[in-house]
Amino acid sequence: MAATDPYGLKNSGFMSAENYYPEEAVNRAVSMSTYVIQGLDQQTREMAIELYRDMFYLGYLLYMFSGYRSFDKQLALYEQYKQGTGNIAAPPGDSMHNYGRAIDLMVLDFSGEGQLPGGLKKVNQANENLNIPFKWGGSFNDPNHYWNDTVPVSELKKNSIEYVEWLEETGWQPDIVLDDGPKLSGLALFWNEQKEVAITMVIGLAVLIMIFIASIYND
Ligand SMILES: [Zn+2]
Repeated sequence: MAATDPYGLKNSGFMSAENYYPEEAVNRAVSMSTYVIQGLDQQTREMAIELYRDMFYLGYLLYMFSGYRSFDKQLALYEQYKQGTGNIAAPPGDSMHNYGRAIDLMVLDFSGEGQLPGGLKKVNQANENLNIPFKWGGSFNDPNHYWNDTVPVSELKKNSIEYVEWLEETGWQPDIVLDDGPKLSGLALFWNEQKEVAITMVIGLAVLIMIFIASIYND
């Protein structure tokens, strides 16, 4: 059964993701991402649709698993993070998610079951090529996170009640997202995204050890 696709996320084309992924994975990703996009503010929604459609056209399937979050949900995530049991999370009001202006996403591997190695870098590349004003959380160890960088969070804080009221008027229900989809641990994610850095570090360390050993035997 085909998933409903009100935002046209299945932007078919020559390299389209539907040629590379199981139909079931495409439907799951489209339906979850559609739900996430619905909770975004107008500008961020258009940015997210553009990014999704472009990646789909290039043959990569995005799975957006988090968008708008209430302050209550943010507090719960922040407490998990502080206790060391959850992913990195800002305090309530300090996260772009609280204003519907951030998304968490992954690129599915071609089985549709896990994350594609190096996929998040490809998303960042596409985002930059298209000049979409998303910023990538890869610079602070949160590579699944993209936020709309056009308005600082300090400005949004002043208007937060307005946004929540608007969202309620649309009838969209926050916080029913429970399926975070395929997950990788921090170390596995680091390996996926920073393989070259990790290999260079290991080789560098091996060379230093060899120099050290050689210096002992030369004495
Ligand atoms: Zn996020």
